[in-house]
Amino acid sequence: MPMANRTVDRALVLLGATAIVGPVLLVLVTAVYVGRPSPFLLIPAFILVALILWSDVRLVVRQRWIVAAFALVSQLGLGVFLGTFIGSPLAASAPLADSLPPASPPAGMAIYVLPTGVNHRTAAFAYRGGSPTERWESVLNAVLVRHPKGDLLIDAGLGKTIDSQLKRMPFTFRLATALAPGRTAAEQLEAAGYDLSRLRFILLTHAHWDHVSGAPDLAGIPVLVTAPERRFISEGGWLTVSARDIEPSRLREYAFEGGRYLGFEHSHDFYGDGSVVAVPAPGHTPGSVIVFVNLREKRYAFVGDLVWQRQALVERAERPWFVKRQLDLDPVALQGSLLRMNAVAMRFPEIQIVPSHDPRGYDGIPERPAR
Ligand SMILES: [Zn+2]
Ligand SMILES: [Zn+2]
Repeated sequence: MPMANRTVDRALVLLGATAIVGPVLLVLVTAVYVGRPSPFLLIPAFILVALILWSDVRLVVRQRWIVAAFALVSQLGLGVFLGTFIGSPLAASAPLADSLPPASPPAGMAIYVLPTGVNHRTAAFAYRGGSPTERWESVLNAVLVRHPKGDLLIDAGLGKTIDSQLKRMPFTFRLATALAPGRTAAEQLEAAGYDLSRLRFILLTHAHWDHVSGAPDLAGIPVLVTAPERRFISEGGWLTVSARDIEPSRLREYAFEGGRYLGFEHSHDFYGDGSVVAVPAPGHTPGSVIVFVNLREKRYAFVGDLVWQRQALVERAERPWFVKRQLDLDPVALQGSLLRMNAVAMRFPEIQIVPSHDPRGYDGIPERPAR
């Protein structure tokens, strides 16, 4: 009989472990899957669900209520975690009353997108309410703005040293990231026969690695940042490893000495003609900005990582809890920036919103830079 009791105890330990630890493993598998969707992750997920349900039934049949109570707590925790992916729109702010700011873009001004790579993710990773079955090709682009007074590059995309930059990032981040680098911005400009002396500066929406990785390749070109973002570069840990590869003397600060712009309190006009205007949009990082580019025929808002998909801006949706926790430095400030930009999008649907990583945001922007 003691032998039989030991067998019974082992079975109970196994059931308890499955019903209690299984949900924790399922949380991890879910977190990796939404960030890096792979059919191979679905196999352990389905096995875990089946094992957890089977263990629950066995615990009830055996009337092991104490173990079952712990299992219930663990599985409720799983439910709460999954609930953080469900849509929960922020309350809208007051409608924007501002009129469209004047702009006098010069003839010949144009923009081009330089695609430097893709991250394979799901919409569930991008925003609350995004579907885990919807693939999101998170593009990593630089945008060239041609201007007679000198061109600028909005962000720099992935650079040629991205592999060594990635090695300095946490293992868990690399585990949930499936990066497919392409040609760098510097390589594309060279292949197009672009005269680099025309490139006046690189303007960062923010200093995260995926926006500045290619900046060191464009040696000597000044990199424009806000004061808070400059501090963040030195203090931002692994998220700004690429930015710390930029020669510090290349970093140039600019201030928001300009007045109110589309509901944002301050602004900076880079050419003095209203064609390229940045406004502070803190939250994702301390010195994140939105860059408005106003061509004669169309207006754009390059919103950086304020949101990852345009749908998130329309639906006033934050990133899911575990993503927000890791990547948004000040979620409360981010809510304010998001709601301000939502009001702009609602009042002026003709402005094309371009989140850095949303392929649909770049619709109609040509790829190949002209000479
Ligand atoms: Zn970012
Ligand atoms: Zn980004």
